[in-house]
Amino acid sequence: MNKKSELWRKFIALLQRKRRKRTEDPKERNRLYHEEKEKAFNAWIQLQPDKRCIACQETKKAGDFGYSQFNRREDGFLEPVFHQRCKPCHQIWRDKLDTSCRICGNKIKYKDYIRIFYGYSLIGNGLTSIQICCKTCEPAFLALPIDQQKALIREACNTAYPTGQVIYGLYDPRDNKVRNIGRTSDRKRRFRDHLKSSNSLPHTYEERKEWYTKSNWIYDLLEQKLEPSMKIIKYVDISPKAPEWERRYILHGIQQGWELLNIETMDEYLVEKVQESCIDFLQTPFEDLVEQGFFREKGLEAFVHAWYEP
Ligand SMILES: [Zn+2]
Ligand SMILES: [Zn+2]
Repeated sequence: MNKKSELWRKFIALLQRKRRKRTEDPKERNRLYHEEKEKAFNAWIQLQPDKRCIACQETKKAGDFGYSQFNRREDGFLEPVFHQRCKPCHQIWRDKLDTSCRICGNKIKYKDYIRIFYGYSLIGNGLTSIQICCKTCEPAFLALPIDQQKALIREACNTAYPTGQVIYGLYDPRDNKVRNIGRTSDRKRRFRDHLKSSNSLPHTYEERKEWYTKSNWIYDLLEQKLEPSMKIIKYVDISPKAPEWERRYILHGIQQGWELLNIETMDEYLVEKVQESCIDFLQTPFEDLVEQGFFREKGLEAFVHAWYEP
């Protein structure tokens, strides 16, 4: 047994002993529990090897790195996934991600951008969103002549979806079948992110049933010392239309019976509807797909259709 899990077992035993002794006050019990948990957690961090920061290149103690994700181990321990940058470097990197409002010029955090524009959602999949202006500047933006609005929208869309967008498939090397469809303008980085997302835990979607996910599939491949291969399916000429093409290909794949692991395949209603339909998802005009409910009427893809002029 390694030192880490031994420590964890001791911690659990300690908790159980505490529980047996239990004070009658539930608040106190709760406080003790969290205090002990934190102690065990800090002790675990102390045991971690030093890490080298990818920004300043200094080797620092694991505790000098933050984390925002956890891997749940088999024994239930939530193991933090350390950032690649040390805490100060991570902060500098975060600050750089805050972009400037196109109206007031102030540095704006992701959450402080307008999320809805003329009723359309500006939020895409993952963390990508079209950042037009901050919430405070919305009235000023709407007061601009329409041509100026469109020029700023063009810039915002081009920033969110830089040129060079492709739709790619991740293929299983064991049978050469496509299991995931995505979009990116940075294939290498996206591929690394996919490998990092590897996870052995099953996913439950809306508490209904357990799903075998892309992360599980990648985990299984890595376990067998294999990797998926990434192949380009389409080069997107109008970059901000990449989310539309991504969804078109996912729907097309579902219709063709590809064994995709994209999140859309967990929506049984959608899958049934797609399979029953004889629409050509790669050719049918966008408006028709909206009308038939395959795209949201006020979704980000519809926003690009209505407002983006290359
Ligand atoms: Zn650093
Ligand atoms: Zn502003």
